[in-house]
This record gives sequence, structure tokens and C-alpha cells, in this order.
Amino acid sequence: MTGHRNHLFSAGEGSWRAAMIDKRLHPDAQHRLLFTDTLYEDADAYRFLIEGAAHVLDRQLNWSIRAEDFPDYRVPEDTPIEEYRGNPEWRAFLADLRARAMDAMPELVWIVEGRDPWEVFRDRSFIGNSGVDPCSEALKRLALAKWRSANCHREGELFGPPDVFTVGIGEHEAHRFYGDHKGIGILRANAADGWIYEAPLIALNEALLRGEHVADDVLRLMLAPLSDFGLERARLYLLAYLHNNCGGFCCKAGQAHWANRFRVQPERYAYDAMMERKLIAYLGSDVAMLTDRRGGDKKPMSLDAFADRLLAEPGRQFEFAPGESGCGCMGVAA
Ligand code: SF4
Repeated sequence: MTGHRNHLFSAGEGSWRAAMIDKRLHPDAQHRLLFTDTLYEDADAYRFLIEGAAHVLDRQLNWSIRAEDFPDYRVPEDTPIEEYRGNPEWRAFLADLRARAMDAMPELVWIVEGRDPWEVFRDRSFIGNSGVDPCSEALKRLALAKWRSANCHREGELFGPPDVFTVGIGEHEAHRFYGDHKGIGILRANAADGWIYEAPLIALNEALLRGEHVADDVLRLMLAPLSDFGLERARLYLLAYLHNNCGGFCCKAGQAHWANRFRVQPERYAYDAMMERKLIAYLGSDVAMLTDRRGGDKKPMSLDAFADRLLAEPGRQFEFAPGESGCGCMGVAA
């Protein structure tokens, strides 16, 4: 006997498919969708989150949400970084959306730490990079861990059956679930604390490799286009982003990701570069999200510097496979 089946629901396609498959395989369990909001998601990611949640939970909403309805998430350039709290109109819109969505779908648990990645960088006096992600730690992992401790049961607890958590990681990222030479992985890291984690997409793939029979409708949930289910893909995927997190922004992403953003969303790139520039000035040190490895040495490279390089060598913008170094951030408390 288990407690709730909790699906880490990131507004990404993988977590939607994983939740759908798990619900299909465990129709009598109590399912919850856990979304950790960085307050910096793309407007269309929120749209997909709500429509996707309604689909998983088999709920008809009597209202709809469109990306065009959202206010601007940006603040004026002259906003002092010390006073930065996001765009108030954007934050108020999200608070209202959150309340309406959770009212209509109480099984959608919308977890908000209250800051966005820029605020975390400022408050920690550290700009995230490919190796260290204070934003993900504060806004996703710790926020989820806090909620989980208050609302869930581990294995071996006296007061209730253990909860199960699922992640939307696919076979191509199985190392993040099982671990590799770089890290212990989500499964074992959480098991060490008594938390049960499963990865339905990986499990399904493994069953297929073993030659086991998989029902057609389950296979369809894994492979069929979203349009078959009446869902529209989140727009960032159509712009060659590999993930739908943080509005396509990511401190962990590499040059391929940023070259793609520079090409397909130059205004958003310029805004990120402006915010990074303000933070670098505020911190007063030689730090940046990207790393320049030219010449053999590793040194920080700001988005401004990377943009200059792309402009000086226009062909470079197309050297990278789109989204080649997308973000691996997930709302997992590992
Ligand atoms: S997607 Fe990137 S920027 Fe956003 S929280 Fe995750 S690591 Fe941080």
C-alpha cells in the first residue's frame, strides 16, 4: 500500500507524459501534481502547465489561459538590483492564476518560494553557472523538500503509507536518475532519506527492451504527438529549446543554448544580458554564467561578451546544434 503518487510536474512535456502514464498504470491511487514555480517561466509554459494538469486530472476548466494575456515579466533597466522583486504586475497576475488553478484543481500543488533566479543570485551574492545552480536549489529542490516534509510520508514511517514521487526523465537522461561517475542520482539520493522515486518513462523503455508487452494506450502516451491528446506544445520547444524552464533562461546552459536564444529570441537574450550586467556590477567581481575556454584557460564570459563574439563571427551562431546544451534542472529534491 502506498500513499499519494506525486508527480513532479515541470510544465515540460516529459513530466506530462510521465504523469499520464503513471495515472494510467495506477488508476485507483491518489495522484498529485507538484509544480515548483521560479516565477520566471514562459507565459506559454504556464498555459501548458494548466492545460496539461487539467488533462492529467481529467478536469474540464470553464476558463482558458493564453500567453498573450500575460503582462510583461520584465522591469525597467533603471530598476536598482538591490530593490528588484520582479515586475509587480507579472507577479500579481501569477498569484491570481495560481489561486484560480489550485481552486479548480486542488491536486495541483503549486509551490512558490517567492523569488526568481535573479533574486536568488543577488541574495546569495553568486551568479549561477553550469556547475552550481543556487536558483534551482532554492526555488525547486529546497522548496519541494520543505513541502514534502510537511505533506508526505517516507518509507518506514509509523503514521501513514509512503508516498511515491515520479519524475519525467527519459532514457536519454537515465544517468540523472540512476547516477553515474558524477553523482549518486535522484533514485539513490532520495532513497537514502526514505523517499521513493520512480521514473515512468525510463521504466517503460526498460520494459520494452526486456521484450515485455506494453499496452498500446500506454505506448501512445509515451510516443504520440501532444496534438493527439488535444494539447498544444509549449512554444519554447518550437524555438528549438530543449526545455521549458525559466522562460528559456538558464544559468546552467552552455553556449549552444545561448547561441540559440540569441538567434531566436534576441529581446529575451538582451534582457538576460542586462540583468547579468547589473548583477556583475553589484557584486563587483569577475563572474558570469558562461565560461570562455578559448586559449586553454577557463574564465567567466558574460552574455554581453558572448553576444559580441556571435556578432563578430556570425557563422558561429549556427555552429551549434540547437539546444545542444540545454538545461538539466528539474524540480527534484535530491
Ligand atoms: S532552469 Fe536554470 S535558471 Fe531556472 S532554476 Fe533551473 S538551473 Fe536555475
